[in-house]
Amino acid sequence: MADSMDSPTTKLAYFDDMWQLKSRASFISMVADGERLAVIVDSTILYPQGGGQPADIGFIYDLDERLKFRVQDVRSRNGVVFHYGYFDSPLSEQSTFQKGQEVILSVDEHRRGLNSRLHSAGHLLDVCMHNIGLASLESGKGHHFPDGAFVEYKGKIPADDLERKREALEKEAKRLVSIGGKVSAAIVPYESAAALCGGELPEYIPKDTTPRIVMLGDNLGCPCGGTHVADISDIGIIKVSQIRVRKGLTKVSYTIGP
Ligand SMILES: [Zn+2]
Repeated sequence: MADSMDSPTTKLAYFDDMWQLKSRASFISMVADGERLAVIVDSTILYPQGGGQPADIGFIYDLDERLKFRVQDVRSRNGVVFHYGYFDSPLSEQSTFQKGQEVILSVDEHRRGLNSRLHSAGHLLDVCMHNIGLASLESGKGHHFPDGAFVEYKGKIPADDLERKREALEKEAKRLVSIGGKVSAAIVPYESAAALCGGELPEYIPKDTTPRIVMLGDNLGCPCGGTHVADISDIGIIKVSQIRVRKGLTKVSYTIGP
């Protein structure tokens, strides 16, 4: 593995604009990671897997579209984003990007759309938990993958109340989706971030940082590094497939409609 320490950190351009599907960046280097090749650029709109959201797929290519690198996976390590994939065109020694060369990045719209809807749906279920009287359950892990999406909470719901709560959650989600509301994200000072999230931030966020807060309409914000739909109504149908309580954790599994 080439030493990623040599690379400056990658600017996460999707922090500023979650809906940009094409951007320009400056090529920094190509690294070999075992069998895999990875492209490093100075700024990316491709989402690296993390925070419960799968990686984007897409392309990185030169301005005359002769040299095309197909991105199959995106990962971040120590602030450097690795775009894993391969050149679509046969790679000769001359055909690779040059250091400092301007390249175009494009995000696969279909996959991003699905990932964003699943992620926003997870956040909306948090809001629904509050609205149906389960605010005392502290929000924990979220897994917003197409197969087996869930949000998890510390605390329990009595077994004989699970089905009623499942129905209530689904009904509340449907109501909120039908009303809609603008989704936004902003990087703000710690105190403001805490205020947007109802007074407190999770312990894993250090006090001297400026967290990124995602807001779904007028509801309480949530610290998040992921991508989201532009409007709550874009989430579409949310089905709460199951609520399960185990080892003091309540796991709410969900799917989204086509
Ligand atoms: Zn999130």
